[in-house]
Amino acid sequence: QEAPPEPRSGRSAALRARMEERLLGARFRYLNQQLYTGSSRDAARLFHADPAAFHLYHRGFERQVRRWPERPVQRIVRYLRRRPASLVVADFGCGDCTLAASVRNRVHCFDLVPLSPQVTVCDMAEVPLADESVDVAVFCLALMGTNLQEILGEANRVLKLGGTLMVAEVASRFENICTFLKAMAQLGFRTVSKDLSSSYFYVLEFAKTGPCRAGPAPGLRLRPCLYKRR
Ligand code: SAH
Repeated sequence: QEAPPEPRSGRSAALRARMEERLLGARFRYLNQQLYTGSSRDAARLFHADPAAFHLYHRGFERQVRRWPERPVQRIVRYLRRRPASLVVADFGCGDCTLAASVRNRVHCFDLVPLSPQVTVCDMAEVPLADESVDVAVFCLALMGTNLQEILGEANRVLKLGGTLMVAEVASRFENICTFLKAMAQLGFRTVSKDLSSSYFYVLEFAKTGPCRAGPAPGLRLRPCLYKRR
């Protein structure tokens, strides 16, 4: 006996769409947790093995930041527009390259999978740039791996002496901003300005004072940014 055709009523289509949304949401939260609780190398392996997971992650990310009153990357864009367009920029974890598309500067874009042809695919802990070759290094919501010291050490390596490091990060990730900034000083980054006015994200500007000092930097801790089920 043939099964009766599935009713194509508006209600069942809506239910199905809702279930799909939920599944995507759950998958996004799982991937997001992986990124914040493993090293940058683990993230590279994860997305290399499953590029579809990367695209799903990005859809979820877009959906999250659209809820915010302002996109953090717009703050970095405004900052760069106030400075000379001749400065060379490195965007670590560039996502869809909004930054490169919004400024006149030369921007090296690094991410794990290319969302745009401008992206150089690599792990941000090891970017294909020469020592002291860029003026501004940017991490906009991109300090995800647990090997923060190594990642920031890479930014230090490629930055010129006196160069700028811009960090925009989710406010709730900081356990103690003072100890974080002290640890940054140990990594060769002097705090130039800190904007803690948004309850969503902080914007920190540093200047490179010299190479990273060896040894552990215990204050260099950020909580994982885990999204709630909605
Ligand atoms: N900076 C962009 C995207 C932020 S989402 C913006 O503000 O819109 C964080 C980005 O970091 C993602 O695109 C993610 O793929 C990337 N990322 C995470 N771990 C990475 C790694 N180890 N190496 C390079 N990119 C990484």
